[in-house]
Amino acid sequence: MKKILVTRKLLQSNEERLKKLYDVKLNSNDELYSQNKLVEMSEGCDGILSALTDKLDEETINELPHSIKILSNFAVGFGNIDLEAAKKRGIAVTNTPEVLTDATAEIGILLILGACRRAAEGIEGARSSNWKWSADYLIGKQLTGSRLGILGMGRIGKKIAKIAKSLGMIIHYHNRSKLSSDQENGAIYQKDLKSLMSVSDVLSVCCPASKETVNMINKETLEFLPKGAVVTNVARGDIVDDDALIDALNRRKVYAVGLDVYKGEPNLNPGYLKHKSAFILPHLGSATKETRTAMANLAIDNLEEFFKSGNCKNKVN
Ligand code: NAP
Repeated sequence: MKKILVTRKLLQSNEERLKKLYDVKLNSNDELYSQNKLVEMSEGCDGILSALTDKLDEETINELPHSIKILSNFAVGFGNIDLEAAKKRGIAVTNTPEVLTDATAEIGILLILGACRRAAEGIEGARSSNWKWSADYLIGKQLTGSRLGILGMGRIGKKIAKIAKSLGMIIHYHNRSKLSSDQENGAIYQKDLKSLMSVSDVLSVCCPASKETVNMINKETLEFLPKGAVVTNVARGDIVDDDALIDALNRRKVYAVGLDVYKGEPNLNPGYLKHKSAFILPHLGSATKETRTAMANLAIDNLEEFFKSGNCKNKVN
């Protein structure tokens, strides 16, 4: 029987399945393992079911025991793992695409609505009974007719585009490669980030964190936005230069932000907290019972496929 380290606590049904399939080391207290502890815990294991909170950088990967053959990441993003270092060590890395697209797109839309319609201020006012209706109370930005710029029109970006289109938004997008017109579904391609920014009344960041995308939203690129644009990020905190975005909020270049992800989570740049127009969530993208169950099942399926065939359709390195 293969031995698996599971670095974070999973939902009960997923842990029951793991117990039937493997000699499994579960993390019942959901302790956040340090890199050293993770290496120590993986002694004698054949694979690790990891989470986005595990920083599997080159040094950590090089210290893993030679018995480790697979890192099955419980996420579609894999910015927490050094893919090249894993490859050099002959360790396969897999992810969980598709199953979290709908739940994450729902949060992507919530960020857009929350930021445009001043939900953070509204909730605060309602909870403290400190409000009275008036014709100009908490006037926000209407989505109907405004332009949504999607950076990263992949699975999640396309689902956000579909919902936003039904709300009357006009969709623009930028990817490194243009989609077929079938896949575009009426969205307008922008060949670079600057041209996307210049047509974005609302920006939705949906691309993966990578060496190429780190701090892509920065002082220079933010200047291309129309004045009073809204910036939302449902992808990864590393893509945004926080100081530049907070400065743009301070200058009212940016009207509001909607954020689910942050550099250095769970901490976030305190500059955001000073802004009532920051609609902020604690990385809730895939947080529904259906989706978390499906993600863990897919991470387990990936282990199964890999141990049976030596390969896996969701291998990313
Ligand atoms: P996906 O289907 O792979 O889509 C990624 C898109 O980004 C592709 O269209 C890709 O197009 C584009 N892209 C990649 N690199 C780019 C670059 N340098 N410049 C411009 N566009 C680029 O991924 P997905 O399933 O939609 O997931 C996207 C990301 O969402 C994940 O990587 C993850 O970090 C994040 N996520 C967050 C949550 C959450 O809880 N908030 C949940 C799930 C996922 P090209 O290759 O043509 O450039």
